[in-house]
Amino acid sequence: MVTDAPSSAALPLLPWLELPLREALASQQAHAIWLHGPSGVGQFDLALALAQAWLCEAQAVGSQASPACGACASCRLVLARSHPDLMVLVPEALRESLGWNAGDEEEGGGASEGSSKRKPSKDIRVEEVRRVVHFAQSTSARGRGKIVVIFPAERMNTVSANALLKTLEEPAGDLRLVLAGSTTDALLPTIRSRCQSLRLALPDEPLTVAWLASQGVKQPEALLAAAGGQPEEALKWFREGMDGAHWLALPQQLMRGEVGALASWPIARVVDMLFKVCHDAMRAACGSAPIYFALAPTQFKAAPITLARWYEELTRLARHAEHPWQAALTIEWLVGQARVALTEPAPSRASLN
Ligand SMILES: [Zn+2]
Repeated sequence: MVTDAPSSAALPLLPWLELPLREALASQQAHAIWLHGPSGVGQFDLALALAQAWLCEAQAVGSQASPACGACASCRLVLARSHPDLMVLVPEALRESLGWNAGDEEEGGGASEGSSKRKPSKDIRVEEVRRVVHFAQSTSARGRGKIVVIFPAERMNTVSANALLKTLEEPAGDLRLVLAGSTTDALLPTIRSRCQSLRLALPDEPLTVAWLASQGVKQPEALLAAAGGQPEEALKWFREGMDGAHWLALPQQLMRGEVGALASWPIARVVDMLFKVCHDAMRAACGSAPIYFALAPTQFKAAPITLARWYEELTRLARHAEHPWQAALTIEWLVGQARVALTEPAPSRASLN
């Protein structure tokens, strides 16, 4: 027998999403929503919270204007990722990190063919979208309608997106779709124009700093700045072993030419970090305050011309950051390049001629 657990079966909600959730429940009547904003602010969590509220059986059908009760059978099924009227489409490559593995794999059919051999797909593939079309035509199992969540919606390629068009144009009466993602431009206009737009803003810093601290993040301000203000990104980095102190020590480490823990980073992340160092050093050279390393003890003193050259080299490399280079050698080379750019004295007039 299922006993009432002391903890709620409502999906945990990021604190800055509470207001957008209530507003969306009160205002969103369309059958399809395009839920977007800067990446890493919780689009997927909000999409699921909306789905749970719409399916919640504690509220009268058609008047689900409050967040999910977190206690009814439907809420528990959503939390257990096994609600028969909820379909969640996320690319294979993201399923584990989003904690959304189970249901999709079982029903995967064609999607799971040969999946043990190939790399997990970063796209939402057309076979998966076809499952949505089939789901749209089925009958709601619990009589509260059906919900489809697609995230990140911009990962649908043209073929996948076109497969969804008909369902968007002529939706079954009891189907609602939430397309969630981070970049407005990447989603096909034909898809976007058929959805009601719901935009999430970057949350206020005090709220996100407090949330990161509650997750155990040390020096959350530093890591939040490192992640460009995106709290979920900051938390992801922390869970991958980065902390604020480590981030703030990076410029000095580079000036000494030490590879250290960078050796274990993916090249794309090293390049991203170097861009941030370069960016802040350029700001310092113009007399502006740094952004990503504002709390670092380092004073950047590099010459603008050296930094400009470094920036160009990084840009060239960034185009190929996914290239399967010898990672260790490449990172060593990148650190050496950073050391020179950050410490080389400004060239004399004579050497410029
Ligand atoms: Zn409920």
